[in-house]
Amino acid sequence: NRVQLRNSCVESLTDVQPVRTSRVVARVEKLKKNREDRRKKYVEEKIEKATAFGGADNPHQALIRMISEFRKGLVFKPLSTSDIVESHLITVCVRKRPLNKNEISRKEVDVITIPSINQLIVHEPKNKIDLTKYMDNQMFRFDYAFDETCDNATVYKYTAQPLVKSVFQGCFATCFAYGQTGAGKTHTMGGNFIGRNQDCHQGVYGMATKDVFHMARSTYANLKLTVSASFFEIYSGKVFDLLANKKKLTVLEDGKQQIQIVGLTEKAVLSPNEVLQLISKGNMARTFGQTAANTYSSRSHAIFQLILRSPGHKNIVHGKLSLIDLAGNERGADTASTDRHTRMEGAEINKSLLALKECIRALGFKQNHLPFRMSKLTQVLKDSFVGPNSRTCMIAMISPGVSSCEHSLNTLRYANRVKELVAGDVETN
Ligand code: ADP
Ligand code: MG
Repeated sequence: NRVQLRNSCVESLTDVQPVRTSRVVARVEKLKKNREDRRKKYVEEKIEKATAFGGADNPHQALIRMISEFRKGLVFKPLSTSDIVESHLITVCVRKRPLNKNEISRKEVDVITIPSINQLIVHEPKNKIDLTKYMDNQMFRFDYAFDETCDNATVYKYTAQPLVKSVFQGCFATCFAYGQTGAGKTHTMGGNFIGRNQDCHQGVYGMATKDVFHMARSTYANLKLTVSASFFEIYSGKVFDLLANKKKLTVLEDGKQQIQIVGLTEKAVLSPNEVLQLISKGNMARTFGQTAANTYSSRSHAIFQLILRSPGHKNIVHGKLSLIDLAGNERGADTASTDRHTRMEGAEINKSLLALKECIRALGFKQNHLPFRMSKLTQVLKDSFVGPNSRTCMIAMISPGVSSCEHSLNTLRYANRVKELVAGDVETN
């Protein structure tokens, strides 16, 4: 009997165990399926929204017609390169890139209109309750709005160039490229793409470098400043030196609340060409091993710095220019991903972009308290946010297509919060 009982126990144990395991597995499977269904539905809704304006040969015909009617009624006064460059403590601009070949062949509709030097309109397709379609025109105002005809040189003139001058006057200046992946951040900062390579001369990094050397040798030659450069990236809250084979570095705060990136390469440079070579080297390190599926660089912030030091005693920093190619802001939404690592990365990106916005706002309101400890990005940029010598410029990049509408609106709302300018009215005829 005892043997029988033991056998039956063993039996029931072996019976119960798989049932329990399989129940857990089934629950996990169900959760996974639910998540996949939700995602599928989201994608379907997005496609539906993008193609909602049905037409015979072009699914967007009605939308195109409405936008073109709207544009006919506007008075266009776009930015001209003779317009004066204003000087601000905080400058917030927006840049719209042209539709690319792929988007044109997909018959994407350009839903962004830039009627004047500082205004931008998003034509968002929407449905009424009775399912009739309409266009919601949302107006935004910035210090400058660059349309698709503006080149990097024009964007540079109104954004980073005034900062270069301020750095010689002892400022700590930062210029950020913010926006969705594919909207043009790296194109603007690093230069035009020729295949996978970039023409560094045509980017904000390169143009700023040229101006720094020009000014150091002319207007400000009497200061006898030395120029040096650093290039690093922040990925998932960790700092990597792009000029030292992506060596991982630690960030410390000393007794005087000064932030130090321990061991960061700061290369003394004597000519613009030397800097351009460093930029190429850093860019290569940044994108090494990157594939379409592994878009590492869109998840990291790249920080390129030009540092001016006074000669003599302790080589103190006279001024510093930081040019930053931020992680794609849509990556912050990866917090819903099934992959834990991606989710954590998304949360980190979200946190750093939020901290950045709060730090710039605090600078604008001249608040003493800066929430720079909220993220690694704001921590390493602390010296650029404190004191009366801080200058900041943010360039919000947007893709023009209707399928990017939601991301573009997110980008524009974020930029608007950084510096709140009243939208005002558009001029019509
Ligand atoms: P991001 O860095 O924001 O992810 P990229 O700068 O890599 O985006 O731009 C994506 C693609 O669009 C690149 O092929 C780039 O050459 C192109 N592009 C971006 N901005 C422009 C522009 N203003 N004019 C022409 N092409 C652009
Ligand atoms: Mg990029």
